[in-house]
Amino acid sequence: MLPRSIQVGELAKAFDHSVVDVMQALVNLGLMVTINQTVDFDTAALVAGELGLEVVPEELPTVAEAEAEEAVPAVREALWTDADPSRLRERAPVVTVLGHVDHGKTSLLDAVRQTNITARESGGITQHIGAYQVEHKGRKVTWIDTPGHQAFTAMRARGAAVTDVAVLVVAADDGVQPQTVEAISHIRAADVPMVVALNKIDRNEADPDRVKAQLAEQGVTIEEYGGDVPLVPVSAKTKQGLDDLLDVVLLVADVRELKADPDRPAVGNVIEAHLERGRGPVATILVRTGTLERGDLVVAGTAYGRVRAMIDDRGKTINKAEPSRPVEILGLPDVPEAGDVVRAVPDEKTAKAVVEAEQRRRAAGAAGERPATLDEMFAQAKEGKAKELQVVLKADVQGSLEAIRGSLAKLPQEEVGLNVIHAAVGDITESDVTLAAASNAVIVGFNNKLDAPAKRVADHLQVDVRLYKVIYELLDEVQKALVGMLEPVMVEQVLGHAEVRQTFTSGKTTIAGCMVADGLVRRGAQARLMRGGAPVYDGRIGTLKRFKEDAREVAAGLECGLTLEGHNDVVVGDVVEAYAVQAKARG
Ligand code: GDP
Repeated sequence: MLPRSIQVGELAKAFDHSVVDVMQALVNLGLMVTINQTVDFDTAALVAGELGLEVVPEELPTVAEAEAEEAVPAVREALWTDADPSRLRERAPVVTVLGHVDHGKTSLLDAVRQTNITARESGGITQHIGAYQVEHKGRKVTWIDTPGHQAFTAMRARGAAVTDVAVLVVAADDGVQPQTVEAISHIRAADVPMVVALNKIDRNEADPDRVKAQLAEQGVTIEEYGGDVPLVPVSAKTKQGLDDLLDVVLLVADVRELKADPDRPAVGNVIEAHLERGRGPVATILVRTGTLERGDLVVAGTAYGRVRAMIDDRGKTINKAEPSRPVEILGLPDVPEAGDVVRAVPDEKTAKAVVEAEQRRRAAGAAGERPATLDEMFAQAKEGKAKELQVVLKADVQGSLEAIRGSLAKLPQEEVGLNVIHAAVGDITESDVTLAAASNAVIVGFNNKLDAPAKRVADHLQVDVRLYKVIYELLDEVQKALVGMLEPVMVEQVLGHAEVRQTFTSGKTTIAGCMVADGLVRRGAQARLMRGGAPVYDGRIGTLKRFKEDAREVAAGLECGLTLEGHNDVVVGDVVEAYAVQAKARG
């Protein structure tokens, strides 16, 4: 399965071969390209031939059974998330609330919800289904009801980056705390815009200026200080500032121009799911694009079923759910996992094909496509695959953390960057591990340990955790990873020289009768024709014969007859220099 054109680096990944192999194959085909250049399908197919692989042109999941063939356009539609731009309509932003424990995340979520239920609906009972929607000035905003960066990053690690705006809750009386710092790293790593909700502003101990300065120390510069992060003082208790918070969330969302196509089959993500007696598997789905309708056939993860009923966050039965709307659905045969993708499909045939594509994707993931260990980094490194090493850094005390951070920043990184996505004091926790998994990072620990739950998650998500007791060793290993990651260099190796002793013509072709002076000459090898010490031709050896027989190689001291591809100007006294180009790792 290959697209019409593909970058060399991507091609190597697709073939599960090293960049060095792929570049070598391209060289063998007479193409000198760099890792970032794009080749077309035909070239990719030739490379595949060189590597002994077969390829199929198409980006579609190849559906094994022929009977599924006609379902393919539907599979494409189901897997495809973005539609024709003219069909896109504005959708509600999806907000996640993060911050330190007890700073008021849950209280804020409750306050926003209670304050913004429209009059028409206020009689309804609120149902906690994992997410809810409120209306503010005629516009909708979706809030994920599970606060905290654990859930946020766990979803992201599973490929479900549903959050459009992150609200960082900081208690005005307590300021920036360890989990605030963690939350900041998680938000940054996800590249999601942040709004600070400065909570508990009603308290006498509230000290907004101190919090603003602490945020600045963490690199979060609020608008008032000339940065781009809005800060809204609020109180979940008195409800002060909640309208402003919603205003700001919508403003930030507007910059992102959040859109979806409501007129296509729905694609969403599972927010949470469980088994309920009498109701069977119950899953809350956040619709990302399209409209989910009651009766739709949906694939959730690797199972499919018909949506028997849909219930919204007010406990009301509904028939349709548009983009950004959270709904609880009944009718799935199995309990899916949070983060699983849900897709509406037209028929069972398509459902089967989509399940198959998903199983294939999972198998590929399980085979270690995504997570990078430092060893894999070294390896990828040697092949020039990775361009930036992502690191989560934890150390026992602030002093060593700063020292290591400073030294890491000084490592040479002209070609391969080092990006510390989170640095903090303490043992390595589950949250560090999910962050690393979601960001393809390695965890580097100094004088600390991995707690038991973190170890379990690290094993499960295959995150590489490296613990050190000596700073020098830590720096040395990271440096090796960086150096190894350099792109391969193309090295030329001269194979040998052959002197032209006589020339013959056969039709229009000139055959050079040669004596191999040193090394060897090879059929198909790259070759230069040297005349008076200067190259007059650079191409390939075409045919190569020993007496009348075709030969693959002719070694020093032997005579041979050869032709140069597309070149007939050969005279006695010229020298044919055969050479090979090899891709080699640097450093
Ligand atoms: P979470 O751990 O971040 O979800 O925090 P909670 O929402 O559970 O709140 C922790 C405590 O702070 C609770 O006792 C809340 O009543 C209190 N609290 C939350 N928001 C406010 C607020 O704006 N003002 C005051 N005074 N107390 C608050």
